[in-house]
Amino acid sequence: MGLRKRRTSKSIRIGNVIIGDGYPVAIQSMVNKRDIIGIFEQIKQLEKSGCDIVRIAIPDENAIGFIPKIKQSFSIPLVADIHFDYKLAIRSIEMGADKIRINPGNIGSDKKVKDIIKAAKDYDVPIRIGVNSGSLKLEYINKYGGPTAKAMVENTLDFVKFFEDNDFTNIVLSLKSSDVITTVKSNISIAKKTEYPIHIGVTEAGPVFESTVRSSIGLGYLLLNGIGDTIRVSITGNVNNEIAVAKEILKNCIPEAKGVRIISCPTCGRTEINLENLINFVKDATKNIDTPITIAVMGCIVNGPGEAKHADLGIAMDHTDGIIFRKGKIVKRVQYADVRDSFIEELNSLIGEKNGTYTGNTKKFKG
Ligand code: SF4
Repeated sequence: MGLRKRRTSKSIRIGNVIIGDGYPVAIQSMVNKRDIIGIFEQIKQLEKSGCDIVRIAIPDENAIGFIPKIKQSFSIPLVADIHFDYKLAIRSIEMGADKIRINPGNIGSDKKVKDIIKAAKDYDVPIRIGVNSGSLKLEYINKYGGPTAKAMVENTLDFVKFFEDNDFTNIVLSLKSSDVITTVKSNISIAKKTEYPIHIGVTEAGPVFESTVRSSIGLGYLLLNGIGDTIRVSITGNVNNEIAVAKEILKNCIPEAKGVRIISCPTCGRTEINLENLINFVKDATKNIDTPITIAVMGCIVNGPGEAKHADLGIAMDHTDGIIFRKGKIVKRVQYADVRDSFIEELNSLIGEKNGTYTGNTKKFKG
């Protein structure tokens, strides 16, 4: 767990993934293609990268037809994202979406939202109530003088009451702003006021560098405070970047989150090799490993093991020799040409000790 105990929340099932109630924090992303070939290709990539739940936009009736096709070909839970048109929400549910995401404020009327709720009940499909600072109802903006955290929370609580009054509690909440502080404040507040699972994300977070910083601050703060049952890192560009950043945030906030933590020194005048090449080798060799271990890639043999003695496994080289170490103790000293293969051997043996079997990438280093 993070600094604080995980917040208590209801569990909600989205297809074959359960969120909330202490289940692992799930990673979500959203397809940004419009054609079925592009959508299929992207879902395949997202699944491979470690995405747990995938969302697609349903802007029209044509997109509804994608839902059963995707469901036939993929096991990853599928969320349909609907704005404005309640009929598209109902049709998405009927066609097999595992969850829908709506902002009840832009559906048009209470009657239409009630019709969506009825379909979700009939098909036992959860609904994410998504409140974004950019689409808050005017009454809340006027009351609070802008799209503040208080305005977002009150708007969300009013929606929650409406759903509960209609006997529907299969809900997930999300309160997103492109402003990190508003995102954090609103989520902390809503987390205290309800027990529904929360999907967290900073919206419109920008391109990869800007979003990585914004999302790490916002989502990291929330996760370290025990808040967040699913996360999305919103990045303009390649969606696989979203998964890579989300995984890295989770690994740094939740000790038991799956995956290898790679640490490396900044290098200095003692470094005799290209450390970035060595890091890339270690990243590639460990990319399929789910075991939560820390691996140090250090720039010199003399100080590397001592500076990284907390790491489960480490590697350091100079221009003639290399060492492999565990918790700061050297376990192998080999010639430069053999160090990568020695690292893979030691990695296999460490993973075997941790898991009983080795599940990672067994390829030998070539070149
Ligand atoms: S581990 Fe070695 S190369 Fe890296 S910063 Fe420390 S002294 Fe320098």
